Amino acid sequence: MDMQRTFLDRLFESGLLIDTGVEGLYGRSGQFEDVISAFERLIDRFGGADGAEAIRFPPGMNRAYFEKSGYMKSFPQLAGTVHSFCGCELDHVSLLKCMEEGGDWTGEQKATDIVLTPAACYPLYPTVAKRGALPANGGLYDLQSYCFRHEPSNDPARQQLFRMREHVRMGTQADVTEFRQLWMERGVKMMAEVGLEVTIDIANDPFFGRAGKMLANNQRDQNLKFELLIPITSTTNPTACMSFNYHQDAFGLKWGLTFEDGSTAHTACVGFGLERIALALFHHHGLDVNDWPEKVRSALWT
Ligand code: AMP
Ligand code: ZN
Repeated sequence: MDMQRTFLDRLFESGLLIDTGVEGLYGRSGQFEDVISAFERLIDRFGGADGAEAIRFPPGMNRAYFEKSGYMKSFPQLAGTVHSFCGCELDHVSLLKCMEEGGDWTGEQKATDIVLTPAACYPLYPTVAKRGALPANGGLYDLQSYCFRHEPSNDPARQQLFRMREHVRMGTQADVTEFRQLWMERGVKMMAEVGLEVTIDIANDPFFGRAGKMLANNQRDQNLKFELLIPITSTTNPTACMSFNYHQDAFGLKWGLTFEDGSTAHTACVGFGLERIALALFHHHGLDVNDWPEKVRSALWT
């Protein structure tokens, strides 16, 4: 706990992160952003030749897609919805009065058609499904999005609005498991290039509630999720900086992702937690990039 505070304080003092008064919601300095851009170029150096289709969605997604995704069944505690004032002038008067009196003015806000994107790949599945059947060689996509998760924390590596870069593969079971394996190997190599020691371990998503425990155990038993871990704020509890997820045909069935012969596609996604990777670099090599080992600097900036 103390170590977390110290690292966050040092990040604020150096100006790399900027305090907004809300845990997990930070401004980032130019230098912090430069590290993220450099790391994203490294991702391109490793994966660019794969020919993934680049798509960028905004950090909000269609609420109807979100509802259909089942996110509220699994992770209601993390979701963020966008609400707006939709009233008449009279409602406006009571809104201002309520605010003036320090009351809870948010109760009258109405849900809009937008929810905050919980993971970069969520808007992709319905988008690709709408295009029609997948070609025989499936699909490969390159995404990046700010994502929201309601998990306020003073651990700088646990933010509420953070960026996820993802590669997503749709195809046969063999296609997508091979893709996931390839990125696990690439992930280890990439981190070695930037001087970060990692471990890879089986993982599970934070499914909500008692029923969620079973889902988490099932995910582990079936080796559906792996994480690449790097010690940042704790050595005993290293931080997941990359995730490697195999969804089997769950998203294929949910969204109707099929091949021309009608068979259902399998999917897998590989996610880079960009803030976490930047924080791991600052933690291990120091808060001033000019002091970083030459090997690391040249991997990132040449
Ligand atoms: P997940 O969908 O949970 O596997 O997340 C994908 C990646 O995003 C993880 O491997 C992390 O690197 C990153 N990530 C997840 N949650 C957070 C968070 N609260 N703050 C910063 N990065 C996160
Ligand atoms: Zn994903």
